[in-house]
Amino acid sequence: MPDVMRAELWHAMADAAGLIRADGSIGETIYGQMTALAAATESVNLGQGAPGTDAPPQLIEAAAAAMRGGFNQYAPGQGHAEFLSAVAAQRTRDFAHRVTSEQVLFTCGATEALTASILALLPRGGTVLTFEPYYDAYPAAVTAAGGSLVTVPILPREDGGFGPDWQVFDEVVAATHPSIIIVNTPHNPTGFVFGPADFERVGAAAVAADAWILTDEVYEQLVLDGGTHLPPAMAVADPGRVVTVSSAGKSWNATGWKIGWVIAEPEVRETIQAVKQFLTFTSGGPLQIAMARMLAEDSRFVAENRRSLQARAEVLVSACRSVPGARASIPASGYFTVMDFSALTDLDAFAVNERLAERFSIVGIPVPALCREGSAAHRAYRASIRYSFCKSAADVDRAAQLFRALAEVLETDPDSLRG
Ligand code: PMP
Ligand code: GLN
Repeated sequence: MPDVMRAELWHAMADAAGLIRADGSIGETIYGQMTALAAATESVNLGQGAPGTDAPPQLIEAAAAAMRGGFNQYAPGQGHAEFLSAVAAQRTRDFAHRVTSEQVLFTCGATEALTASILALLPRGGTVLTFEPYYDAYPAAVTAAGGSLVTVPILPREDGGFGPDWQVFDEVVAATHPSIIIVNTPHNPTGFVFGPADFERVGAAAVAADAWILTDEVYEQLVLDGGTHLPPAMAVADPGRVVTVSSAGKSWNATGWKIGWVIAEPEVRETIQAVKQFLTFTSGGPLQIAMARMLAEDSRFVAENRRSLQARAEVLVSACRSVPGARASIPASGYFTVMDFSALTDLDAFAVNERLAERFSIVGIPVPALCREGSAAHRAYRASIRYSFCKSAADVDRAAQLFRALAEVLETDPDSLRG
């Protein structure tokens, strides 16, 4: 058979996402790897951000009804009209973000939305700035578009929260003139929620560099503790340069449906659609209709889901915080707490994760896997692990017991996580 190595792109994309092993073989994404580790060690899997509670029955009924109603052929390239107007209505209702159907493009999850936007809007050889740690699809998409990635760390702060290093941001913008600035808010994995002052900086930098602001708002409904999500398009001085991306998977416990969207000025939306139509053309016909009905009519489930998530976060995080010497973040949003083991061990996050899997049956995502080798964020999160509390209440309870067992062991033997 022909040699796969004569094509460069797949290798460069996998490499950008850190998936080429030292021996040259291809690794699975970090989420797949950690799911396999959890299965092999019979651990509770707090890795991938895949909900352990199901989508609501009314959503499933709406999908069945749409299938019975004949929505089983290709949807239009932009998406079903009902879906486009539902996204516009939801944005206006939930965030006072005025959007028309003309601005909305259906995508196969936020992942396709981000990739199509980067492919469409990045000049060859252009630079994309993202905050770090970051979602693993960004570097792969930037590589596919022939660009380069620069990063600005989001770091732990003294008060227990997180924040971007704005000095580095200003330096990186001045030095690299990025064509696209990606803003993931609420942020995976730290839960940091960008506020008005942050957007003032991002907006001014985008104007200075003449950059697009590409957002990733997949956790838009999951700001905890009564806080609010501020869409970047509502907060920057020049919203015409904002390309908004979000999806329904997290809010509706339906990550497998891959229902996402782009919102941009109509001519920008058309440009992104020109690329998207040759990635998938279209997908999820009846699911678009079902989600449209939920988005347009019913946000009760989303509010319940947020409350339930908050309750599971409290159970898991209080157990994590009982571990002496470790520091677990109190999440402001999203699915995750970040736990720093650096005061307890000289091992890195991958080794700590393996040890905790083998001895305590707990698996998370090592945060350095979401960073670039050698970066400031990679150093800061050297021994940090991300744990998901979006799992079932039973899994969260079991995990909480396991963390308390770890705490007891460390009380008697504080060196038990050392290399
Ligand atoms: N961005 C972030 C920050 C994520 O955590 C995820 C994972 N769900 C995605 C994008 C991808 O979203 P989707 O499943 O809708 O493609
Ligand atoms: N977004 C999910 C997470 O951060 C994982 C999605 C995936 O498996 N690619 O855990």
